[in-house]
Amino acid sequence: MIALTFDDGPKPERILPILEILDRYQVKASFFVVGKMANQNRDLVLRMAASGHDVCNHSFSHPNLTTISPEQVRMELRQTSDVVESITGKRPIYFRPPGGNYNDSILSIVAEEGMSTALWNINAEDFTYIRPLRDSGSPPRESFFRHSDGEIHELVMRKARNGAIVLFHAGGRETETALPKLIIELKSRGFRLVTLTELMTGSSQLALPSRSRS
Ligand SMILES: [Zn+2]
Repeated sequence: MIALTFDDGPKPERILPILEILDRYQVKASFFVVGKMANQNRDLVLRMAASGHDVCNHSFSHPNLTTISPEQVRMELRQTSDVVESITGKRPIYFRPPGGNYNDSILSIVAEEGMSTALWNINAEDFTYIRPLRDSGSPPRESFFRHSDGEIHELVMRKARNGAIVLFHAGGRETETALPKLIIELKSRGFRLVTLTELMTGSSQLALPSRSRS
């Protein structure tokens, strides 16, 4: 079993093509939605749930959670779960911290809010944040690194294994271009593409972060 997961959004122009591909190939996946955007695109969240995908929590405004107070972290989580529940009738059971930034206090709050923190073990690198460059005199520049659809394909196929959780971003055209061929090849290699709920129920191997990181 392999779980395909899609972070960020939902934005209609990026999510709809992905939802259509998943429906066409009858694949169930997991979407980590940003609460603020979920609230603005409630029909998309409803469609995710109706298609049998997991709707998961990716904070309310996508901050680096390690830079805000515990009270703010709790609000980020709770507001998003409230939005998702108001749309789908179910509170998310998986949480993924924006940028993968977490610490022990954040893990505790996630657990207190009734969720498990789910990271990934294959990063498709379709949208990788590169730290701001700080040259003296000029303002910090932010940039993102994106693989081509061919590179995404090669990377995921090379690392594919039972129990893998693949991180994609619902934001790039390369992701949507790579997806159909990836799905076909993963299936032909005998993998079942499942939601996180199914993956976690089917195996005791949780991709839980180890405590004590930063
Ligand atoms: Zn994100």
